Amino acid sequence: MKLSILQLYSHDMNIYGDCGNVLAVQRRAERYGLDTEIKVYNQGDAFPEDPDIIIGGGGQDSGQSKVIDDLHKISPKLKALAEKNTPMLMVCGLYQLFGNFFKTHNGEILKGLGIFDIETNGREKRLIGNVVSQSSQFGTLVGYENHSGQTFLKNSAKPLAETVILGIGNNSGNNGKNLNEGCVYKSCIGTYLHGSVLPKNPAITDFLIKTALENKSMQLPEIGPDPYKTDIFIENARKVAKNLKR
Ligand code: GLN
Repeated sequence: MKLSILQLYSHDMNIYGDCGNVLAVQRRAERYGLDTEIKVYNQGDAFPEDPDIIIGGGGQDSGQSKVIDDLHKISPKLKALAEKNTPMLMVCGLYQLFGNFFKTHNGEILKGLGIFDIETNGREKRLIGNVVSQSSQFGTLVGYENHSGQTFLKNSAKPLAETVILGIGNNSGNNGKNLNEGCVYKSCIGTYLHGSVLPKNPAITDFLIKTALENKSMQLPEIGPDPYKTDIFIENARKVAKNLKR
C-alpha cells in the first residue's frame, strides 16, 4: 500500500514554501512505517485517480487568475473527493478558491468551488505577519500570513481555529475582536497559515494521514523512531513561533 499525496498547482500556487507541506506529510508517514507516492497536478494534466491526500498552496492574485479556469474543470472530481472524506489541506490562495468566491482588491471576481462556505474580499491593506491561533480540534497552531483577502464564514461553516491569539486570520473582525482562522469542511482544511504550516503543526499532518488510512479501513499505527530528530526541531520551532512579534 502506498499513500498517494497529490500537490495541486505546484507551478502557480506555491508561495512561502507551501510545497514543503507535501514533504512534511511524506516524512511523517515514513515514521508510521508507510510508503508514499507524491503526485503533482498542474494545468492541463490528467487528474490522478483517487489521491489519498490533496495539498494546495497559496499564490498571488495573478496566480489565482491563471489557475481558476482549470480549477473549475477539475471541480467535480475535487468536490466528489471532498464528499468522500478525502483529507485535503488548502493554504491561502487555494483556500480562498475552495470557497464561494474571491473578489480581488482590483474588483476581479474569481468564482470558487464552494467546498468551503466562505466569501473573500480583497482589500488594499495586506494582512502580514506571524499568527498564533487556538483550535479546539488541533490545539495551538502557528504560522505566517500574507494576504489581502478578508474571508467571512457563512451559515454553519466551521473555523479551523476559533480564536486568534496573535495576528488576524480570516478577517480583521469587529475592531480586531472575535478573530478566527481557516475553515474545516468534512476532512478538508483551509488555512491562511504559510511557513510551511505542517512541519510546525504535526497535529494537522497526523489528521491528514490518519483520515487517509481510515478511508482505507486502516488505523494509524504507533509512531516509530525519529531518525532525523525532528521532534526537538518541531518543539523548538513552535516555542519560538509562539513568542514571535507580529
Ligand atoms: N492573493 C491572495 C491574497 O492576497 C492570496 C495570497 C496568498 O496566497 N498568500 O489574499
